[in-house]
Amino acid sequence: MVFAPLLRRLRPAPPKRTATLLTVPGLPAPLEFCVSPQSRRLSLRVDLARGVIRVVVPPGVPEPQAATFVFRHLDWVNRRLQAMPPKMPFRDGRSLPILGVPHLIRHDPLHRGSPRVQSETARQLIVGGGAEFLSRRVHDWLKAEARRTLAELARQKAVTIGARVQAVAVRDPRARWGSCSHQGNLSFSWRLILAPLPVFDYVVAHEVAHLRELNHSERFWQLCARLTEGDMEDAREWLRVNGAGLHRYGAE
Ligand SMILES: [Zn+2]
Repeated sequence: MVFAPLLRRLRPAPPKRTATLLTVPGLPAPLEFCVSPQSRRLSLRVDLARGVIRVVVPPGVPEPQAATFVFRHLDWVNRRLQAMPPKMPFRDGRSLPILGVPHLIRHDPLHRGSPRVQSETARQLIVGGGAEFLSRRVHDWLKAEARRTLAELARQKAVTIGARVQAVAVRDPRARWGSCSHQGNLSFSWRLILAPLPVFDYVVAHEVAHLRELNHSERFWQLCARLTEGDMEDAREWLRVNGAGLHRYGAE
C-alpha cells in the first residue's frame, strides 16, 4: 500500500492529444494544429467536411514549423480544397469564422441561454438546446451579434464626422455588403460577422462615409479611407476574392 502513490507516479497517465484552431495569413483555410504524443513525424490532411487544414505533429514542434510545412505543400492543399463542398452547414464539430477567427461549433444540450463564445482553452461557440434547432440557433445568434456590433461601430465612426445613424438593419443580400439611405438608415449583410475584422471595419466605414457623401466621388473615397482602420484596398481585395465564399456558411 505504501508504494501505491510512488507506482502511480512512475506510471503517468498517457499524455493527451491537443488540437488548436489557428488563422494563418496566406493559408486558404483555418489550420488545425494537433500535437500527438504517438506521432513521430509531421502529417498533413485537408478535412473537407470541416473545411480545415489539419497538421499532426510530435510534441515539441512549434506552430510556425507546422505552418511552414503546410506552405511547402500549398499546391496540394489548394487542390484538395477545391473539392470542398459548396455548403458549410452549421453542425456540431464544424468550423465557423467569427470575425475571421475560426471557432468550433459545439453542441452542448445542457448549455442554457443563448450560444456563448468560449475561448479559454479552444475557441468554440457553445450552443444549447435540441440538436434539431442547432443550425437555426447559430444563425440567429450570428445575425444578432452582427447587428449589435455593426450598429456600435457605425455609431462610433459617425460621431467622428459629426453624422448621425438613424437605424441599422441586417439582411442577407446576395450581391452587396451594405447600403445607406437618404434618411441615414444603414443596412448590412449579417455575413460580415464571418469576415476578418479589417474587412468588417471597412464596410462600416464605407456606409458611414455615405452619410456625408451619397456617391462614389473622389471626396467619398478620401473620407472612406480616413474612416477605415486598416488598409482600405486590402479589405476591398479580400471581399473580391473571398466574399462569395461567405455565402457557403449555414447553407443546408
Ligand atoms: Zn458605396
